[in-house]
Amino acid sequence: KPENRAAMEAALEKVRAQFDRHYPLIIGEDEIYLDETIASLNPSHPDQVVGRVSAATAEHAARAVEVAYEAFQTWRKTPAEERAAILLKAAQLMRERKHEFSAWMVYEVGKSWPEADADTAEAIDFLEYYARQMLDIEERAPKLVYQIPTERSTYRYIPLGVGAIITPWNFPVAIFTGMVSSALVTGNTVVAKPAEQSPVVAYHVVQLLYEAGIPRGVLNYLPGYGEVAGEALVVHPKTRFISFTGSKEVGIHINQRAAEIQPGQIWLKRTVLEMGGKDAVIVDETADLDAATEGVVVSAFGFQGQKCSAGSRAIFVEDVYDEMVQRVIERTKQLKIGDPVDPTVFLGPVIDTDAVNKIMSYIEIGHDEGNLVLGGKRLDLDGGYFIEPTIFTDVPWDARIAQEEIFGPVLAIIKAKDFDDALRIANSTEYGLTGSVYSRDRARLERAADEFHVGNLYFNRKSTGALVGVHPFGGFNMSGTDSKAGGPDYLLLFLQPKSISEKIK
Ligand code: NAD
Repeated sequence: KPENRAAMEAALEKVRAQFDRHYPLIIGEDEIYLDETIASLNPSHPDQVVGRVSAATAEHAARAVEVAYEAFQTWRKTPAEERAAILLKAAQLMRERKHEFSAWMVYEVGKSWPEADADTAEAIDFLEYYARQMLDIEERAPKLVYQIPTERSTYRYIPLGVGAIITPWNFPVAIFTGMVSSALVTGNTVVAKPAEQSPVVAYHVVQLLYEAGIPRGVLNYLPGYGEVAGEALVVHPKTRFISFTGSKEVGIHINQRAAEIQPGQIWLKRTVLEMGGKDAVIVDETADLDAATEGVVVSAFGFQGQKCSAGSRAIFVEDVYDEMVQRVIERTKQLKIGDPVDPTVFLGPVIDTDAVNKIMSYIEIGHDEGNLVLGGKRLDLDGGYFIEPTIFTDVPWDARIAQEEIFGPVLAIIKAKDFDDALRIANSTEYGLTGSVYSRDRARLERAADEFHVGNLYFNRKSTGALVGVHPFGGFNMSGTDSKAGGPDYLLLFLQPKSISEKIK
């Protein structure tokens, strides 16, 4: 909207003025500036340093856990109403500054304006939803579970302790805010380790949470390398739980390390892991092909395919295969590519040089596995990390580009004999995050509801985008630990149930 445009321009300018700032670690009351820094670059113009964050060592991680452990002793006793009120205040502050948060994402991770706006909106939703959910849990507890004339038993939920919150860069405001606030509102204390690629916007979220009333020490900000700072948090004996969102490989590694018992450790660590996806979009011969085309293209190429929910596999049944391939190619050609500071851009850069190398190597592999019908090249736009939207057709269901998460603008189109075959192919990966089906056949949709083994299934709509409280989000199999962010049972993952029985006669 035109009125938003002026606000967006102002936000971009305000953020640009803060480029190249040096950011500290925040451990309790201490702000620690280190000489060793991680430079966060603008992927559209990698010569622009969005900010430099201090890179925490394992010793800093240990100190942060100790501080959080101390803070837990008082924070766990604060009334839930107070904690919920802080989240609501944070939501209000974020709403007032939403363009600013979106601007940080445009610069730090190359999100288009609509994607960045949705990311900020989701963060606000998480804050409000988890505040309400906490009050709801509190209202139900202590809950009478059993009473006989001689004995009365109640049940309550208590917080776990110190949580290591380890986050990805692709939803740097929404996922960071959601993971941190869910752990805090349930009475836990947190050491937050943002991704190396998006630590600056995370710093601003942390500042906003302090401003809303989260005490220092209850929330600690620990940017750094995953293998150093992240790993040290995972194995620290006083860390009680790990809430992680990121790749399958790192999630599996964290799960293994968290299972080791360290000297002095007196509990099993709980892990909440949200991992990758290789999500499929099925289109059958009864589908509305206009809607299906839009859904396939937006799911595959939204945020350059860098979403766990990206529809990176399209499975078309034989009868509509050729027509759908043509439609998808034509629609993809219309996508506007460029620096997302321009609000009309759909496709921005990928995150960094590692991503460019990984995606280009999968495109190489794709040449041997399918037919390249669109894209396939790196684009030279001011040195930014741009890759053309790329489509391979006639990809066998078991090809590497149809099985492995590429996390870039690469779509593998697979032909299925019929709907049964499409469903079988859709289920033939180790992941199980999202999926969608375009069909007008009710019986087939019912079958998909039963048999398409994913955490988030969408019918006749695009497979990305999860509204908090409406589409509780999280996957099966190698996509995660079956948890559902933004769902009614999510907060219970950060609480432990306690049963209290009293003899009354
Ligand atoms: P990543 O696994 O590379 O990194 C995620 C986080 O883990 C980062 O903060 C990183 O520093 C940290 N880390 C790395 N090694 C570590 C170690 N040894 N010990 C502890 N921490 C370590 O993932 P990414 O590139 O930031 O994010 C993209 C991935 O996240 C994709 O696979 C995507 O599908 C997934 N993702 C999943 C969801 C979901 O809800 N399921 C949502 C968003 C992203």
